[in-house]
Amino acid sequence: MEFKIAVLGGDGIGPEVTAEAVRVLEAIGRKRGHTFQFSEAPVGGNAIDRYGMALPQETVRLAKQSDAVLFGAVGGPKWDDPRAKVRPEDGILGIRKALGLFANLRPVKVSPQLMEASPLKPSLLQGVDIVVVRELTGGLYFAKPKKRWETARGRRAVDTLRYTEQEVRRVMRVGFTLAQGRKNRVTSVDKANVLESSRLWREVAMETAKEFPGVVMDNMLVDTAAMQLVRSPARFDVIVTENMFGDILTDEAAVLVGSMGMLPSASLAGIPQAGQRAMGLYEPIHGTAPDIAGKGIANPLGAILSAALLLRYSLSLEAEARTIELAVDKVLADGYRSPDIARPGERTLQTREMADLVIGLL
Ligand code: NAD
Repeated sequence: MEFKIAVLGGDGIGPEVTAEAVRVLEAIGRKRGHTFQFSEAPVGGNAIDRYGMALPQETVRLAKQSDAVLFGAVGGPKWDDPRAKVRPEDGILGIRKALGLFANLRPVKVSPQLMEASPLKPSLLQGVDIVVVRELTGGLYFAKPKKRWETARGRRAVDTLRYTEQEVRRVMRVGFTLAQGRKNRVTSVDKANVLESSRLWREVAMETAKEFPGVVMDNMLVDTAAMQLVRSPARFDVIVTENMFGDILTDEAAVLVGSMGMLPSASLAGIPQAGQRAMGLYEPIHGTAPDIAGKGIANPLGAILSAALLLRYSLSLEAEARTIELAVDKVLADGYRSPDIARPGERTLQTREMADLVIGLL
C-alpha cells in the first residue's frame, strides 16, 4: 500500500528524533511492502524565522493532503520573549485545531527494564499501564475572551474555560472506546467542586458512561488525580480529562517511566474503526530539549513509538505497529540505553545507534 506522511520536525531535537522515526517507517515499509511518501514542512520557531509565522498555510495544506502527520517539537530560548506577537507553540496548537484533532492519547506503560530509571519505587510501578486522553481543542487554551489589558489600578489578564456538551461527549467516547479494548475502567478527571465547566464535564461523563455498560467509570478531582498518579499509579486504566488538566497530568505521568524521551502520543478525531484510515498527528511528548539539541544524544524511542501509533491509528497497520513496539522492548531488554535512561557509569548510545538497533530487529 502507498501512504503520504507529512513530516513536521520543528525545532531543537524535533528534527533529530523525527528523522529516526522516518527511517524506522521506511524499514518496516520495505519489509512489509508499503511505500511511504514523506514530505517535510516548516513549523514552529524555524517557520517564524523564515516566514514570520509559526504555521504557514503551505504546511497546513500539506498536512491536510496527507494520510497522517509525524511531528517533532517546537520552541526554544530564541523565541521565548513573552512580548512576542508570534510564538512557536502556535504551530502545534494551530495544526491540531486545523486538522480537527480533539483527542490526545498518551500511553504510559512502565517496562520492567526501565523501573530503575524512574524516581518512584519499583514496588509502585508494578503493572502501570495507563492511557491518558486529553481534550485538545477546547477549554482554557482556546476560548475567548483571552487577553491582557491595563487599567488605572494595574495590569489585568483573562483566559476563559468554556466547554460545550458535544466537545465533552466526543472525547469521553474516545476514552470509553479505548477502555473497552483494555481493562474496562475510565477515570474522568475534573474540578467539579469549584468549576462550573467541570460540573458540565462530570454530568456529560456520567451520561456517556450509560452508552458503555461494560465499562466502569469513576470521577476524580484533578488534585486527587495528581496525588494518586505518584502514590498508586497502577490503579488507573484510561484517564479522560480537559485540555489544561491533561497537559499537566501527562507530564507528571511521564515521570513514571523515567524520561520524557520514551513517551509517544497520538492526536486524533476519534478512534477509527478497524480497517479504516483516519487522519492523526503523532509526536513524542517531549519538547525541543535545547540543552541537548545538536549533540546527537536525544532518545529517539518516543518518536519511534509515535510512528508505531501512526501505523495503528491512521493507517490501520496493527501488525506493523506491534512489530516496532516489540523491537523497542527488545532493545531495552537487551540493555541498550540512551543517556537519559542510563544508570551512572552505564555505556550509552547515540540517537542514530538506538534507531539502528530497532531497525535491525524489524
Ligand atoms: P523538554 O521536554 O524539551 O526537556 C525537558 C528535559 O527532558 C530536558 O532536560 C531534556 O534534555 C530532556 N529530554 C526531553 N526529550 C528528550 C529526549 N528525547 N532524549 C533525552 N532527553 C530528553 O522540555 P522543556 O525543557 O520544558 O522545553 C524546551 C522547549 O520545548 C520549550 O521551548 C518548550 O516550550 C518546548 N516544548 C514543546 C513541546 C511541543 O512541541 N509539543 C512540548 C513541550 C515543550
